[in-house]
Formats: sequence, structure tokens, C-alpha cells
Amino acid sequence: MTGTDMTGTDAAGAETADAPSSTSSKPEYRSPWSPDRTELATILDGEPRYRVDQLWEGLYSQDRPPEEQSNLPKQLKARLASQFRPALESAAEQQSDGGDTMKWLWRLPDGVEIETVLMHYANRSTVCISSQAGCAMGCGFCATGQAGYTRNLSVGEMIEQVVLARRAATPRRLSNVVFMGMGEPMANYDRVIETLHRLIVDVGIGARHLTVSTVGLVPQMLRFAEENLQVGLALSLHAANDELRSELIPINRANPIDDLVAACQLFRERTGRRVSLEWAMIDGVNDRPQDADELATVATNARAHVNLIPLNPTPGWPTVGSSPDRIRDFVSNLRRRGVNATVRANRGTDIAAACGQLAGRSDTKDQATNGPTATTVALKKSGTSRDKIT
Ligand code: SF4
Repeated sequence: MTGTDMTGTDAAGAETADAPSSTSSKPEYRSPWSPDRTELATILDGEPRYRVDQLWEGLYSQDRPPEEQSNLPKQLKARLASQFRPALESAAEQQSDGGDTMKWLWRLPDGVEIETVLMHYANRSTVCISSQAGCAMGCGFCATGQAGYTRNLSVGEMIEQVVLARRAATPRRLSNVVFMGMGEPMANYDRVIETLHRLIVDVGIGARHLTVSTVGLVPQMLRFAEENLQVGLALSLHAANDELRSELIPINRANPIDDLVAACQLFRERTGRRVSLEWAMIDGVNDRPQDADELATVATNARAHVNLIPLNPTPGWPTVGSSPDRIRDFVSNLRRRGVNATVRANRGTDIAAACGQLAGRSDTKDQATNGPTATTVALKKSGTSRDKIT
């Protein structure tokens, strides 16, 4: 990021990948996790060379901001503090599943709020991070989508979510990162790609332990396939015919299922990895035998894996997820047709762990009477947990 000033704009005033793109006031400081090592060395010009190693070690091995690094001299801390401040201030924290699921609502320096969820499993710990404050995709089922778009997150703001989650996970090892929180990662494409590279190289998380989700922005999916990254791609499908999918996910009108299938095929060809098709199981909406048939056709053509997401009932919401019997029949149907399908564990439903739910709680009124339709309410919960169990 050499050449980037504190407002995150370059000399021409254009936004850089590290800068949050804001339509309102810009943060005054950058996250300490914004600069890469080359920029940090430039910033520390004039200091003994070992200071760069010390600071880097503190940021990425101890997951501590400069002000918490006891081996840095006061004068250097003050110098760094004039440019860098942690971006994430805790506005709310909740735990569930006996402490195995933790959710943060963070307030950023310009006042916008985002969410991060940490989930511990027997063999791994996964953090689900936000890529945007709000979202412009307008999916009717999603609390974030209903709240609208505010701005893209910067690289530093995304990395900071991972670093703070890793710190909170200790002594467990944070093993996986999924871009499935607030926002559409593919709509913040350049920053997300840079963040992926930084997570691999600087934070030390293997590419195969990173997953980016999308509701299906085809041009970006095609670019992503050509990035030469071994990062996973998850497509939130939820409906396998264009009529229903366009009702649930408006951008499907411009990115129809045939084009999504072609993008999934390209991803498979270029990376050798299958796309994961995410499918929230909604009673009577997309869990019928004909839905399984349609999904099986799409999954086979896309050469994709299917990840089924059971929905827990939520008091006050009119729609329930599919019954366990219905889910069993559905997955059997898919497997009979040769589709590789798994069922995901739901996590954190009692703390509103789906994207946008915690932020929405502070200002959402009576959603049961004023909120979305039955279909959209059920799907809203589809972000509850992002890892599969079978
Ligand atoms: S489901 Fe994802 S893409 Fe759709 S509005 Fe919500 S955050 Fe945006």
C-alpha cells in the first residue's frame, strides 16, 4: 500500500484496495493490519531494522495491536498511533452452544456496524467474517439485505476480524475463514482478493481453509476462477429454477442459473475444486421431490457439491424449516441421483448468528407482523452456520 495516505485515497483521489469505500465520512485512522510488510518497513524508515520484525511478530504471531506490544518503545507507539488505530470496537458480544459459538457486533470508526461469528467444532475452529457494511443485493430473506448497503470494508478491516477471532479462539487454533457474514464478497472483489492473499501469506491460513461465498455474480465468479487460488467457492443457490430464485435473490435476473452453472464448471476446470451449492431447507418451498430433481440436475451440470442447511424454528417467525424426515428424503433423493450432498450443522440460532441478525435486532421492530414473507423469513436464517457435518 505504499503511497496510500491516511484517508485511504491515492494522489489522484481514487480509492485504494485498503481503503473502506464510504459514501459518508471516512475513518481518520487505518487499521494496524492494513499495511503489508513492505509498507510497514517504509513507515518505520529511520527506526532500527529489527523493529519491523518486532512489530510484525506482534501483529501476526501475538495478534496484538502496537499499543499492546510491550517491547515497542513509547515514542514508536505514539508515532504509529498517529496513523493506525484498531478499526473494530465491540458494540455487542454473545455466546451460545456452550461457548462454542461466539458472535461480535463491531462498530467501525465511521459508526457503521458489522458482524463476525466464531464457531468451534471438534476438529476445527471457523470464523465467518463480513466483507461489506450492509449489502446492495437486496435478497428479501436477509436482514442485511433489508437494511441496505453502506460501504465496502477495507482489507485491514477484514483481516482485523480474523486476527481478533484467532485471539479469542486461543488456546484453540483458528483453522478456517469463510467470507459469509454481512455483504456480498464478490461485490467488494479487489479488496477480498487482496485480503485472501494477505490471510495466506501474513496471517498463515492455508488457501484450502478459506472459502468465499456469493449469491451469484457471474462476471466476478469467472474472474475468481482465473485467480490461481486454491480458495473454496460457495454459491448460495436455494432454488434451482430461475422463477423461484429470482423471487428470492433479485440479482438472479441478471445472473441466471445457466450462467451460474457455466461459472461453476470453469471454477472446477481451473482450480480442480468443486463449488459448494448452499441450499437452505424450507418447508414446502424448496424441499419437495421436484426441487431435489431440479437441484440434482444443476449440481450434476455444475459438477458441484451440495450443502443442505436445516433451519431451526424461531419464535415469532411464521415459517419453519423442513422436518428431519423431509431432509433425510431430500438428501437420499440427491444421493440416488449421484449428487454429493452433506447436511450442515446449525449453530448459534439463539444468538441470531445469521448474517445481519444481530445488527438488525437493535432497530428491527415486529418482524413477525411487519417483516418479510414466509419464504423469505425462513431463508433469512440460512447464514446460521457455515460448516457441514456429514
Ligand atoms: S444474503 Fe448475502 S448477498 Fe443477499 S442481501 Fe444478504 S448479505 Fe447480501
